[in-house]
Amino acid sequence: MSRAPMKLYCCGCKGEVQARLVTGKETYPHRRDLHDLPFWRCDTCGNFVGCHHKTKDRTRPLGCIPTPEIKSVRSEIHKVIDPIWKSGRVGRRELYGMIAHVIGVDEYHTANINSIDQANEVLRVAKDLGAAL
Ligand SMILES: [Zn+2]
Repeated sequence: MSRAPMKLYCCGCKGEVQARLVTGKETYPHRRDLHDLPFWRCDTCGNFVGCHHKTKDRTRPLGCIPTPEIKSVRSEIHKVIDPIWKSGRVGRRELYGMIAHVIGVDEYHTANINSIDQANEVLRVAKDLGAAL
């Protein structure tokens, strides 16, 4: 897979980096099932982000390049918010709108969380909303 590097925000380097397009062979050597998937990797810190690989634009990054720590809090966030909107108590879009409002951004996407502080804040907000809704 060869493509020009892409400028992406890297949470590990705390700034924009020239990310390199690689395959799962490089990011997950022991996961054969992921070997054909595209990832954008920061060669400075070694962190990487996956792509919207199921879409037509299969190398479009999911968001910024997270650190393992941010990645793990993001998955905690999904564990809290996904059951809320899947229950039908509130729509997904509406829930994301509420989170955006509370944390003070125009639009909220879990993949765009770019610091551990923000990740922990969203997790706290999500838990509060989960209890309130
Ligand atoms: Zn980096």
